[in-house]
Amino acid sequence: MAKTRPGGLISKPKTGKRDLDSYTIRGTTKVVRVGDCVMMRPSDTGRPSYVARIEGMEADSRNNVKVRVRWYYRPEESLGGRRQFHGAKELFLSDHYDVQSAHTIEGKCIVHSFKNYTKLENVGAEDYYCRFEYKAATGGFTPDRVAVYCKCEMPYNPDDLMVQCEGCKDWYHPACVDMTIEEAKKLDHFVCSECASDDDVKRSQNGFSVSSVADVKVRLLITCCCISVLMLSNVGRTYGVDKNTIFTSTLFPDPLSSSSGIWRVGRKQAPEEISAVSRSVIAQGDLNLLAGLACRLLVCDV
Ligand SMILES: [Zn+2]
Ligand SMILES: [Zn+2]
Repeated sequence: MAKTRPGGLISKPKTGKRDLDSYTIRGTTKVVRVGDCVMMRPSDTGRPSYVARIEGMEADSRNNVKVRVRWYYRPEESLGGRRQFHGAKELFLSDHYDVQSAHTIEGKCIVHSFKNYTKLENVGAEDYYCRFEYKAATGGFTPDRVAVYCKCEMPYNPDDLMVQCEGCKDWYHPACVDMTIEEAKKLDHFVCSECASDDDVKRSQNGFSVSSVADVKVRLLITCCCISVLMLSNVGRTYGVDKNTIFTSTLFPDPLSSSSGIWRVGRKQAPEEISAVSRSVIAQGDLNLLAGLACRLLVCDV
């Protein structure tokens, strides 16, 4: 998209040009330097200010200052237009360069990285962010893909409140999980419905419920009060919790509760095998073994 600016572009002087390090914005004491981001007056006063990064500055013999700029585009100025995930302060760093009179500079602004912007405690009028570069001719973006969140599978719009599930760590829009923003703000903890139902299954089966021989799937949860450092440092490898090698399956942190020390036995082990071993342990009353390891063995049917 071609951008136009008010007239007053100084015709190129034949001699006496010199590069400038800084320029004081007319009518202010604010100094801008190469590399700074600035707001520039649009030719159409009904439009929001343009945002640009100053790439260079030079003055002619009559001290008229010109700035070489690289434009930031607002989402609505891009070929694809504004999308739902674009924030109000989002800008795209374009490949569109221009030369303008320094007189059109209205003020300075800051274009943050996306990460830094999301960490701002207060967003001022001069704060913007950029997470994409934009090719003005083709409408292409770099990067061309971005992480998505929530059930709606949308990229993060920092203007929208989201809540993080303590289980799966995904982020959710309150509206997508049947909550109002007010309700979401009051939450101390949030667990998404999927993680909550998984949790219910676990809770209802939490116990030494020795089940029938016809177990199809058996899950072992080993809740360790003080699981050995060795075990923690061998995540993903095969080992047993005791020297008789009762369990030979791969252990990995339970994604639902790794923080509380619950580990899930890998599913590669034949369910019948786990079931038989578990029952034999309990039948023998050999829990001292596990108690010695400060472990609690739970046999859960799923
Ligand atoms: Zn959503
Ligand atoms: Zn979840």
